[in-house]
Amino acid sequence: MSNNERTFIAIKPDGVQRGLISSILGRFENRGFKLVGIKLCQPSESLLRNHYDDLQSKPFFPSLLSYMLSGPVLATVWEGKDVVKQGRAILGATNPLNSAPGTIRGDFAIDMGRNVAHGSDSVESAEKEINLWFKKEELVEYKAAMFNWLY
Ligand code: ADP
Ligand code: MG
Repeated sequence: MSNNERTFIAIKPDGVQRGLISSILGRFENRGFKLVGIKLCQPSESLLRNHYDDLQSKPFFPSLLSYMLSGPVLATVWEGKDVVKQGRAILGATNPLNSAPGTIRGDFAIDMGRNVAHGSDSVESAEKEINLWFKKEELVEYKAAMFNWLY
């Protein structure tokens, strides 16, 4: 059991522009996960190419790139038990057609090319993405009082 597992969750440009930051982050807070990093940023094209390097050959890659470059992104890191898998469950399926109501994409998105948020798909990619988006000193280690009984 790893209580300090970390995942990278980003609110994509459409989520930021639509004013969904608090609604999306609230779901992670409410579930009991701990926020350890947060910043609003405009990622560079090279960062995004690295972030999505497994998708470079996909036909939708150019539109994914311009979507992600279209405005600020809110980058966050969350910590807690099974947070990578839980984060994916909270997000819902990639295609909003398949994302259940109650998930972020199931409640806020109708288009795969505008699916409002990103979440790491494995512990390994979480580590890669956290290192890519954040400097070590931008992440905060702390024991929140309300987590004492849990973590
Ligand atoms: P996820 O974000 O759920 O991990 P992927 O890593 O497969 O999904 O894809 C990254 C992002 O690329 C998706 O969130 C979505 O915005 C976009 N995307 C994926 N597949 C398609 C597609 N077939 N058409 C358009 N955009 C897509
Ligand atoms: Mg992915």
